[in-house]
Amino acid sequence: MFSRRLKKPDIAERLGDDVVGEQAKTIELKSVGTVLIERSRRAKHLSLSVRPFKGARVAVPVGISFANAEMFVRSKTDWIKKHLNKMAILEQEARVLSENKPIHRASAKKHLIDRLNYLSQAHGFEYNRVFIKSQKTRWGSCSGNNNINLNINLIRLPEELIDYTILHELVHTRVKNHSQRFWDQMDKLIGDSKKLDRRLSAYRVYLI
Ligand SMILES: [Zn+2]
Repeated sequence: MFSRRLKKPDIAERLGDDVVGEQAKTIELKSVGTVLIERSRRAKHLSLSVRPFKGARVAVPVGISFANAEMFVRSKTDWIKKHLNKMAILEQEARVLSENKPIHRASAKKHLIDRLNYLSQAHGFEYNRVFIKSQKTRWGSCSGNNNINLNINLIRLPEELIDYTILHELVHTRVKNHSQRFWDQMDKLIGDSKKLDRRLSAYRVYLI
């Protein structure tokens, strides 16, 4: 995802957790097409992003009007255009990859589950059940009762990012948010975890 004015990066959002949108509208701009304007409780600033297969979106924090958001979008058309073009290339690469090199589901599933079990034993985590799914929005999640979901597309990622995602969800069995405590635990396990998180977000285009 390319994003602009994300002054306080919202890690949850970049990982693909759902963002609550109470209100949304789309506008059509001559040179860039449809732009989604969406209310977000989490956004701290007007935050513009270009997302794989979804196009441009601006997150509007509480207290800023949609009219202001629209003005902001109109002032950023060059930025949007540039990043839509970049994203189109990445999307095309991802499409070609998924068509020419489909995932072998059974072995992918086995690899991810083996790695989950290895890492949870190595670091003393306990989870309830594991589900391997094909999702378009997130790499993994951990439910309230510690069921772990992993995205089968993880198999296309470098091993250290697979491990990062698995450890991220395992740490969520103990810490259910992205607080400093969460990142401290991650850093102890895997080093500079926020750096890995940023690397992971660059692969978001593989969520197809
Ligand atoms: Zn998380």
